[in-house]
Amino acid sequence: MEYDALIIGAGPSGTAAAAILAEYGHRVLVLEREKFPRYHIGESLIPFTYGPLERLGLIPKMKQSHFVKKFSVVFMQPDATSSQPFYFFTRYDRETVAQSWQVVRSEFDQMMVDHARERGAEVKEETSVTELIREDGKVVGVRAADKAGNVTEYRARITLDCTGKEAFTAVRNGWRMRDPYLNKVAVWTYFKGSKRQEGIDEGTTTVAFIPDKGWFWHIPQHDDMVSVGVVAEGKYLSRDGVRDPKEMFHREVGNNLWIKDRLSEGSSTGNYYITSEYSFHSKHCASPGLLLVGDAMAFLDPVFSSGIMLALKSGVLAGEEIHRGIVEGDLSPEHFAGYGAAIRQGLENMRKLVYAFYHPTFSFKDVIKRYPEAAGEITDCLSGDVNKDFSKLWDRIREFAPIPDELPYGLPLAA
Ligand SMILES: Cc1cc2nc3c(=O)[nH]c(=O)nc-3n(C[C@H](O)[C@H](O)[C@H](O)COP(=O)(O)OP(=O)(O)OC[C@H]3O[C@@H](n4cnc5c(N)ncnc54)[C@H](O)[C@@H]3O)c2cc1C
Repeated sequence: MEYDALIIGAGPSGTAAAAILAEYGHRVLVLEREKFPRYHIGESLIPFTYGPLERLGLIPKMKQSHFVKKFSVVFMQPDATSSQPFYFFTRYDRETVAQSWQVVRSEFDQMMVDHARERGAEVKEETSVTELIREDGKVVGVRAADKAGNVTEYRARITLDCTGKEAFTAVRNGWRMRDPYLNKVAVWTYFKGSKRQEGIDEGTTTVAFIPDKGWFWHIPQHDDMVSVGVVAEGKYLSRDGVRDPKEMFHREVGNNLWIKDRLSEGSSTGNYYITSEYSFHSKHCASPGLLLVGDAMAFLDPVFSSGIMLALKSGVLAGEEIHRGIVEGDLSPEHFAGYGAAIRQGLENMRKLVYAFYHPTFSFKDVIKRYPEAAGEITDCLSGDVNKDFSKLWDRIREFAPIPDELPYGLPLAA
């Protein structure tokens, strides 16, 4: 059977695109290597995840879920003094956009897969895509192996690469470009029974600094769990020859008094995770028969929790643009120029804020002290309201830290 769309990967980007396309009545097949529910990092949602979740019809499920509600982000100095929390409801409606969630990805992603299936998409788990099939320079499908190793060919009018940071097609096409500056390592674990805030601050994401522009994330989850991880340059985390993630993690805990205090109760689940070199950009967003979505198109940095928002947003937009292309009889790469530009605009705005954040002498406090009115725009960007003109904010931030030039990536590659 020939499908309208083949989707590689059943993470948030792939399942969002699948649900939209299936809802329009298109024949969609999602191929996923893992058996769900599966573990994944990336647990803090930001307010502008609301739009895509609403478009998908998932807000009622999110509201009924036991995911911890998140209303703000706060920045904590090593001596445990903090910024004012950036409460999203100072800028957006408290009952809708301004209230976000801290999720457990095995549960959130299972909900997304179930939803795509309910909408009519076919999802094959434990099926690894091994190869793209090309005819006359156009991607016309994929070869995939099931867990017994049987290889099957699947064909479709368009193939979506939603493989996350593995970036299946960007790697094979030589499009995977490293970010000139972002190159961090993350080490993390989960604590049960550690100290928690209460009330509206229970679900706050805390970004807690350590020396040399490293930072901890502290993401409270349900069942009394907390996701806590440290991000820094690899050479800093592995100084003095330390290679064991557990040792790296616990050595840094003492470098932020707030984190030390939080983790003085409870205990780690014992699993420690490490990842590096996750920042990259694909040179192109599309080529004949192929579209890149979510992390497979680019991933910046975990600091402002923008990953799932961008994955869902690009998944929904990809679904809408493919539907329009099918209706208009145009699935050429050029058809996706607007898609690529919109996603890149969001990424570049976030990227400017991420670069400022990592600048050795930058602090949001200093910017807001000089320009109190900048607090609103910073909250907007932290909320993920990234498809708008922030030039005034960048002019102000430029007084404290260099603002990077935009990267010339994301255009479709024409036939
Ligand atoms: C340390 C760290 C912390 C993060 N924290 C946050 C956070 O707090 N908030 C946030 O929003 N984001 C965070 N992120 C980012 C977030 O994890 C991603 O942006 C998000 O998961 C992207 O979704 P996706 O659908 O594009 O890819 P993924 O969620 O990675 O899904 C890709 C899927 O493709 C499948 N796949 C891969 N290759 C193949 C293949 N060949 N065949 C079949 N299937 C395949 C994989 O099994 C996977 O299920 C973090 C990332 C890192 C590295």
